[in-house]
Amino acid sequence: MQAAAAALFKDWSGYLKPEDISRLESAFQFSEQAHEGQFRQSGEPYVSHPLAVANILAQWHLDSQALTAALLHDVMEDTSVTKTEISRNFGKPVAELVDGVSKLDRIEFESHAEAQAENFRKMLLAMARDVRVILIKLADRLHNMRTLDAVTPDKRRRIARETLDIYAPIANRLGLNSIYQELEDLSLKHLYPDRHRVLAKAVKAARGNRREVVGKVLDAIKRKLKSAGVEAHALGREKHLHSIYRKMREKHLTFAQVQDVYGFRIIVNDVPSCYVALGALHGLYKPIPGKFKDYIAIPKSNGYQSLHTTLFGPFSTPIEVQIRTQEMHKIAEAGVASHWLYKDSDTSLSDLQKKTHQWLQSLLEIQSQSGDSAEFLEHLKVDLFPDAVYVFTPKGKILSLPRGATAVDFAYAVHTDIGNRCVAVKINQELMPLRTELKNGDRVEIITAAHAKPNPLWLNFVTTGKARSRIRHFLKTMHFQESAKLGERLLNQALAALGAAPAEIKEAQWDKFVRDAGAKARQEVLADIGLGKRLAAVVARRVLSRSEPGPHETPAPGSVIIRGSEGMAVQFASCCRPIPGDPIIGLISKGQGMVIHTHDCPVVAKARHDPERMLDVAWDPETRKLFEVSIKLVVANQRGVLAKVAAEIAEADSNIQNVAVDPEDGSSYTNMFFTIQVSNRLHLARIVRALRRIPEVVRLSRVKG
Ligand code: MN
Repeated sequence: MQAAAAALFKDWSGYLKPEDISRLESAFQFSEQAHEGQFRQSGEPYVSHPLAVANILAQWHLDSQALTAALLHDVMEDTSVTKTEISRNFGKPVAELVDGVSKLDRIEFESHAEAQAENFRKMLLAMARDVRVILIKLADRLHNMRTLDAVTPDKRRRIARETLDIYAPIANRLGLNSIYQELEDLSLKHLYPDRHRVLAKAVKAARGNRREVVGKVLDAIKRKLKSAGVEAHALGREKHLHSIYRKMREKHLTFAQVQDVYGFRIIVNDVPSCYVALGALHGLYKPIPGKFKDYIAIPKSNGYQSLHTTLFGPFSTPIEVQIRTQEMHKIAEAGVASHWLYKDSDTSLSDLQKKTHQWLQSLLEIQSQSGDSAEFLEHLKVDLFPDAVYVFTPKGKILSLPRGATAVDFAYAVHTDIGNRCVAVKINQELMPLRTELKNGDRVEIITAAHAKPNPLWLNFVTTGKARSRIRHFLKTMHFQESAKLGERLLNQALAALGAAPAEIKEAQWDKFVRDAGAKARQEVLADIGLGKRLAAVVARRVLSRSEPGPHETPAPGSVIIRGSEGMAVQFASCCRPIPGDPIIGLISKGQGMVIHTHDCPVVAKARHDPERMLDVAWDPETRKLFEVSIKLVVANQRGVLAKVAAEIAEADSNIQNVAVDPEDGSSYTNMFFTIQVSNRLHLARIVRALRRIPEVVRLSRVKG
């Protein structure tokens, strides 16, 4: 192994500095030690694989960090070496690259559906923040594909399928043309060995048959270009096997019917020469209508540029021709990697990154001058500047969400019902808060409950429009329904005050009122009453066709019964925190509905001048809900007194919602404020008695207002 490595290091020193090489040597030794005792299926020591992967990257002239990471790319997954250890020995950037590759290895590709494959490709690209991670991963896959003969047929097919669905398209998207073609051809070979063999044989035979024709056409082209004054390099080229296979399958053709197995490529010095060459060729052979494509004016989304045309050749064979500049050729062959491959010898890493960025930028500029730039941008963003996260459902489906999306966004993305009923989430098997931001590759499982409802607080953290609008819609509907219910009770009370029963109102009278009020339905009028936008007493008189009350006519007393379960339509004032047993007053405020205060609350005193807003209300003796109440304790400073108080509260079947402790400076006493849950005044009294029995408690009072 050492000898093979030494030979490669010598090769690489053609473009790397001596200090880079010595670092690579130590990375190789590190990797060899880590993989000690591990072997490939072929029987070779395992380290031969990372060495080969690094060598593939060296062919693209990648920087020494990427090569170091390639040598170490499997140590985190296959041995006990940690990221910290790599960072300590080879620096943080290398550790990040190795970690990035290892993360990609950990995702399992489960579903083979087309749409899933596309999402999976995006997920891989999004996870690899650094283009070099993808390049290492592609080199890794390329070497594994080249050595696939050694593994079992089952595994061979699985890996070949995955390569065809995921990795070859990624290489294509990044413009890594030669890797793309090799990955596809190797996949074809391992997926369909028979078809591959037959096709390879046919291509070889055709090559022999057509050699003479190809030679003649090539000569004719060269002569024509020369006479047109175009300095050009013209050569014949052969389509890769998988693209011939794909064409046969998609267009239901036999091999004999696929006529553009051969083509020609013409490389010129500058863009104007491309068009001159095109004109010359169209003068030599007639072009086939509809086959001309100008990828110079409108490049493909991976940056590919060329002119494509198909000509009627001699013996009526169609001839496919690509015309491009030297620069375009480099990008066509190596895509993203061409920036490493053709970089100046002494550029630093940050320059390299700048160059990559410039390349992407130039693609954007080219694109913005022509073509569908929105779609193009979208591709680039998803691929290389990720603003999306890709996560798994429990069934292994991949969902794409905007970056920053939370578990609640996920729930609504799956289904509105799941969102409306979600109560908890498991992320990667672990119970997490619903507000948790999702990360690429997370496996998300939403836990729902039949009677759960969306929480208004979710609006503070959801990021998707869908989740936001569905939550709002639900709350609005719920608010409306609850307000209508409350409005009905307020109206019934007002009717009773007039000595009437709800059944006495005639349908026609109701309909007229609804119409006159400009409302769509009776429910809307009731909701308005509940929300305080209409006064129940006024509506009651109108629907009964009674006149305005005389000065002596006072409404008979009657209370609206409060159960505490009215939801958002009835609120309990946070100033006085009423609990069942307290004498209470309802205050109607426009648009907000009813707020319940205690009789002695200062807010009520202020509202006395506006009696229309005040409502007699009473507790339903059957109320089962828990209510919050605030208490203040003054306690002697003693160790453990807070624990004692808390224990007594819990002992009395109450829950503590909030505690604040405010030590009086220099004093031997402390103020404690508790917000606790009680079912009614009796319950509170029981807690108060229990707390007073604690010797350290010197004073205790309920806090109101
Ligand atoms: Mn590997």
